Amino acid sequence: MPHLPEILAQLNADMRATDDWGDIAAYIPQLASVDPAQFAIVVTTADGEVFTAGDVDTPFSVQSITKIFTLAIALGRSGDQLWKRVGREPSGRAFNSIVQLEAEQGRPRNPFINAGAIVTTDEVLTGREPRETLAEILQFVRAAASDDDIHINEKVAASETAHGHRNFALAHFLASCGNLNNAPEKTLGTYFHHCAIDMSARQLAMAGRFLIETDKLPRMILPARIRRLNALMLTCGHYDGSGDFAYRVGLPAKSGVGGGILAIVPGRASIAVWSPGLNRYGNSKKGTQAMARLAREMGWSIF
Ligand code: GLN
Repeated sequence: MPHLPEILAQLNADMRATDDWGDIAAYIPQLASVDPAQFAIVVTTADGEVFTAGDVDTPFSVQSITKIFTLAIALGRSGDQLWKRVGREPSGRAFNSIVQLEAEQGRPRNPFINAGAIVTTDEVLTGREPRETLAEILQFVRAAASDDDIHINEKVAASETAHGHRNFALAHFLASCGNLNNAPEKTLGTYFHHCAIDMSARQLAMAGRFLIETDKLPRMILPARIRRLNALMLTCGHYDGSGDFAYRVGLPAKSGVGGGILAIVPGRASIAVWSPGLNRYGNSKKGTQAMARLAREMGWSIF
């Protein structure tokens, strides 16, 4: 891909040229002190090439991007049984919204909003202890990234636990509807800890390779499951900003409130972008801009 190094270098320079970085996710106090003026972009290809620009080795909190890995493990374990507990429809609401949960009798709309990810975490936790479950999730992420230097940031997990009233409300509501197998505190402790995994943009792009669907890389999950995860990323990966992201970028992707976005070019590449300032949907502001430009300049789109 001859033009990629120049395109990424130019993107990095242009993103740093203006200071409209967006807002940090201050509702997790440990994240509030992150400097918003940071940017990284990494493309890893099915052929094994890696292209980078910016702060690509700075670790950040990947947050909701881990919901992909938990979902992959939950589907691997429970198969279609999982869909009895969580739906596959876009929510059109904020990631932490509670209003639909009552209307849908405690079955969250999809596995990427918080309520849905609490359910997939609960599914993976069932019959296990939190440490065992977290070890399994970490092992999956490390194997996907071919990198053992990926860890949980205990300070971020503790910070979210101390301030996670909204997620406690969601978990207790799920429990009241009979859609939680474990005690809310136990499921949430596991959820907060997997959200608190730190990765660099380089590690995240590497970890995303298992979603590319190609014979050129070792396979981690079934091809049919790769397609389904990508479908959910496209329709639900950016919450109530999913339609706008699909319109502007045209690639399946998942965001996190730490400012990371993982996007997939099916058959070709895994892309990680990171810039901690967020837009009004809670998705990386410059990250979204950069993804849109990269997709356009490379002619990458699933459409
Ligand atoms: N751990 C965060 C939360 O539950 C994840 C949210 C996100 O990244 N969108 O609020």
